[in-house]
Amino acid sequence: MPQSDQQQTLVLIKPDALKNSLTGYVLSYLSEFHTSLRFAGVKIVHVTGMLAEEHYAEHRGKLFYPSLIEYITGVIHYPATPERRRVIAIVYQGSDAVRKIRDIAGPTNPLIARETKPGCIRALGTLAPIKDGKGATIGERMDNLIHASATLADAEREIKLWFKPHDIPPSMHPYATAACGEHYYFSKGKLTTRYSGGSICVLAPGNVAWKSDLEALTLIAGGSTASVSLETVVAKYLVNEEKENP
Ligand code: AMP
Repeated sequence: MPQSDQQQTLVLIKPDALKNSLTGYVLSYLSEFHTSLRFAGVKIVHVTGMLAEEHYAEHRGKLFYPSLIEYITGVIHYPATPERRRVIAIVYQGSDAVRKIRDIAGPTNPLIARETKPGCIRALGTLAPIKDGKGATIGERMDNLIHASATLADAEREIKLWFKPHDIPPSMHPYATAACGEHYYFSKGKLTTRYSGGSICVLAPGNVAWKSDLEALTLIAGGSTASVSLETVVAKYLVNEEKENP
């Protein structure tokens, strides 16, 4: 776990913020001038179903889950323009980063944010009805503009899910890394160490990866169960690939 003055946290500027041109507003609010936090990594991500499902794994099975996946993948805000579906993923670093960003983001529910913390980012969010197949309202989706890691443990899981070590300057790497000694390919939901037509090479010998990812891949390739799913490890390597689901 990083020292408290080197804490890192994940922020996602979600599709509703992009659609409403609130990116600059969010970035200003989270700027070093206001928070004393620094950028460690930034990327534009076309969010795949796999990445969305791993990011929101804890909500699987809940009534709002399918709508939440459509929201974060951009389907809700860009139904007719898939090329505009993206989020901005940012790693911020500095003292007390997790708490500082959560504080500025405000409560998850935009209505509660407006009532209890006017001026926080999520106070500008909205609630949207979730409909069933017949058009009846069965719940509400919280379109709350940004995601911010809730705890240090969540930050570690989420940063490793969205970012490769290569996306972050080496001097700012928050977690242990190691050099890969194998070729690892992903195709049709499976991991292999040999190339077959259409598979994507996620790692090659010499590539630097999160050490915990390499440990998981070694176990999975050997037929054992790892503490994280294969999708959790490979999702970031499939982001912005031409073939989203090889
Ligand atoms: P959390 O894991 O608490 O950050 O929640 C992730 C996202 O799921 C939130 O930003 C909301 O968009 C959505 N969400 C969480 N709880 C609910 C809920 N009870 N009803 C609808 N959406 C929710």
